[in-house]
Amino acid sequence: KVVCVTGASGFIASWLVKLLLQRGYVVKATVRDPNNPKKTEHLLSLEGAKERLHLFKADLLEEGSFDLVVDGCEGVFHTASPVLFSSISDPQAELIDPAVKGTLNVLKSCVKFPTIKRVVLTSSMAAVVLNGRPLTSNVVVDETWFSDPLVCEELKEWYFLSKTLAEEAAWKFAKENGIDLVAINPSYVIGPLLQPTLNFSVEMVLDLKKDIDGVTSANYTSTDVRDVASAHIQAFEVPSASGRYCLVANVTPIHEALKILKELHPTLCPTEICEQDIPSAPQYQISQEKAKSLGLDFLPLEVSLRDTIECLKEKGFLEA
Ligand code: NDP
Repeated sequence: KVVCVTGASGFIASWLVKLLLQRGYVVKATVRDPNNPKKTEHLLSLEGAKERLHLFKADLLEEGSFDLVVDGCEGVFHTASPVLFSSISDPQAELIDPAVKGTLNVLKSCVKFPTIKRVVLTSSMAAVVLNGRPLTSNVVVDETWFSDPLVCEELKEWYFLSKTLAEEAAWKFAKENGIDLVAINPSYVIGPLLQPTLNFSVEMVLDLKKDIDGVTSANYTSTDVRDVASAHIQAFEVPSASGRYCLVANVTPIHEALKILKELHPTLCPTEICEQDIPSAPQYQISQEKAKSLGLDFLPLEVSLRDTIECLKEKGFLEA
C-alpha cells in the first residue's frame, strides 16, 4: 500500500514514517528542502527506507505542489504546519497562511486522485480547548469542543488560531468534496527525537521549570510521540474511524511533572522550586474514550519523560 506523509522531517512525522515503513507501507514523503541532510538523513537511514521511502519537495504555500506526491496513494497523512509560539512578527504569514492554505492545497491535490481513500490530518488540542469555557475540576473536554477563533485572536494565541482555522477549513472542504477525513488532536508531544534538531514541545521539557513561576496553577498535558504516530496509522487503517480524536495521555499539574523531571535530571528543577508547596491545579479531564475505541493505549508520563531525557542526553542537548 502506498501512502503520503507531508512535513516528513518533523518530530511527529519522522516517527510516523518509521512506523509506516515497519508496517510494510511504501511511503511518499514531502520535505521542504531535500538537499538539507539535517532534514533527510534520519529518514533515509530508517529500516525499509532504501526500498520503500521516496522523498519529494513540496511547499505548503505553492498550489499544486502536492499533486505529484499524492498521486497513486491510498492514504495521505497531512502533518506539515509551522509550530511557533514566540518571536512572531506576522502571524498571518508565519502561521495562519501555511496552516490554512497548506491544508487546503493538500486537500485540493487529494480531490484529483480517486485512489485516495482517507486523509488523516494532524490537528491539535489547540483547536479544541480555547473556547472561553473554564477548565475547572468537573470539566471533561471531548471531541465536541472546538476552539473559538475570536477567543484565540483576543488572547493573541496565534498558533492556536492557525490550528483552529486549518481544521475548520479542512472539515468544510472535505464535506463539500466528499473526502473521508479524520483528525488527530494531540496535546504537547514528547518522547525520543529521531531527527537531530529540537522541536518546540521537546525543547519545552528542558525549561518546564520556567512555567512554575507565572502559571503555578497550570496543568501540563502531554502525549508520547510513539502513541501519536500509532494513532495516525489506526485512524487510517480502522475502517470505522471518523471525525476527530482528542489524544492526551496525561493532564498533570506542572509541579508534579517537575518532580518527575527532578528525579530524572536534577538540573531540570532546582530544589527551591520543586520543594515549594504549590496548590494543585484544578484537575480537568480530557476524554480518552474515543481514542481508546481505536484500540489505542497511552504510555505513562514517567516513561515518556524518561525516554525524552535519555534521548536529550544522547543527542547532547542535556548534560549526561
Ligand atoms: P516540527 O516543527 O518538528 O515539524 C513541523 C513540520 O512542518 C516540519 O516538517 C516543517 O518543515 C513543516 N513545515 C512548517 N512550515 C512549513 C511550510 N511553510 N511549508 C512546508 N512545510 C512546513 O513539529 P511537530 O512534529 O511537533 O508537529 C507536526 C504537526 O503536529 C504540526 O501540524 C503541529 O501543529 C502538530 N502538533 C504538534 C504538537 C506538538 O506538541 N509537537 C501537538 C499537537 C499538534 P521543515 O522541517 O522544513 O521546517
